[in-house]
Amino acid sequence: MEQSAEGVKRVFLETFGCQMNDNDSERILGFLKNINYTRTSKPTDADLIILNTCSVRDKAEQKVYSALGRFKELKEERPGLILGVAGCVAQQEGKKLLKRAPYLDLVFGPQNIHRLPDLIGEISKKRGRLVAVEQSESIDENEYGLLSAADGRAFVSIMRGCDNFCAYCIVPYTRGREVSRRSADIIGEVSRLAEGGVKEVTLLGQNVNSYGAGGAEVSFPELLRLVARIDGIRRVRFITSHPKDISVGLIRLFGEEPKLARHIHLPVQSGSDRVLKAMGRGYTASHYSSKVRLIKNLHPDISVTTDIIVGFPGETEDEFEETIALLRDLRFDNIFSFMYSPRPLTKAAAFTGHVPADVRSKRLQRLQDAQRCITLERSRELVGRRVEVLLEGASTAPGEREFSGRTSCNRIVRFPYEGVLPDSIVEVVVTEAYPNSLRAEFPPQGK
Ligand code: SF4
Repeated sequence: MEQSAEGVKRVFLETFGCQMNDNDSERILGFLKNINYTRTSKPTDADLIILNTCSVRDKAEQKVYSALGRFKELKEERPGLILGVAGCVAQQEGKKLLKRAPYLDLVFGPQNIHRLPDLIGEISKKRGRLVAVEQSESIDENEYGLLSAADGRAFVSIMRGCDNFCAYCIVPYTRGREVSRRSADIIGEVSRLAEGGVKEVTLLGQNVNSYGAGGAEVSFPELLRLVARIDGIRRVRFITSHPKDISVGLIRLFGEEPKLARHIHLPVQSGSDRVLKAMGRGYTASHYSSKVRLIKNLHPDISVTTDIIVGFPGETEDEFEETIALLRDLRFDNIFSFMYSPRPLTKAAAFTGHVPADVRSKRLQRLQDAQRCITLERSRELVGRRVEVLLEGASTAPGEREFSGRTSCNRIVRFPYEGVLPDSIVEVVVTEAYPNSLRAEFPPQGK
């Protein structure tokens, strides 16, 4: 292990799961910075190791346990090393994690991130093992507002938790009931990020369309307008929307607010009404389709992406076919697809009719094959078009300097250019489409 500079300690942080967890990891690093920790990419150099975990799917949870096993030896070699587990597995398992991994020092849930400096202080003094998984019904602003951002993009939580209790989902148990932050606090945080150079902000919540239900004084579309007005912010994104709650007002806002990115993620989960009902989603396939059609009719340039779960308990072959039909009908720009896995505490875990693993796996494959063609077709529709790219990085392979960034519709674009770019957002013309990215030219030539 290399020596740390006087008083500076090192943290190795690994993040599993969704953007909500990425945002929590940023907050963890912010609180640790206040007590003199810097980040290291090598666990062997670390004074503190934190795994920020996800329990939404069984696979993600298993990954955490195997990662923990990797650090056991390190802890045996250096007993002074502090090993912690954060995130949804921490919240779900609590004390049980300490039993399962007797070399673990700290378990803390998503609502206890702001207590990290105190928890580490206590462990360092007493060498005790601690569990912090308390949940509260209100938001303490001290939990937020410490963010910085590396590449001009930042995520900002606007609410916490979820009240929907979909039959397959553990989130309402691990992240608690839904509560919104005050709009003034969100505006303050985004303004500070903009002053620090952030150009694109993504507002995060499990169900952003119900922002305000927990007592905030503005609606979600109003909040988007306020954020878009902040000097320096040039693009505003948001995730995740619930199909039952997305309003016509929000859909119309895409025509009124030019800084709103041309992308909406609207998880459908299944194309079968019986499965949607069993999932407790609160809409039918035709209700969902009518919302997507409205979006596409009003704003044909918006890309729509979705989430799909295959093999939900009781899903028949015909019901799965209904999902494939919906996919072909709505032609999503992309999908995030998963095999159902039972999660503790959820209603669906007790359902009968679990679909065998090999059937789930074949359905997933078929779904992904069908979508791959649609994604490529949708990308090819962009060839020859001018698109705006917010730059994220540049590579300098010998003889060719290549820039990369993201379109407003959330596609990755790469383009070669040897000079200095005039701005962090540039217009390019798309020249080729690949399954996961686009190629373009800058400056755009006479198109
Ligand atoms: S809306 Fe449903 S799937 Fe999404 S976080 Fe809430 S309970 Fe989970």
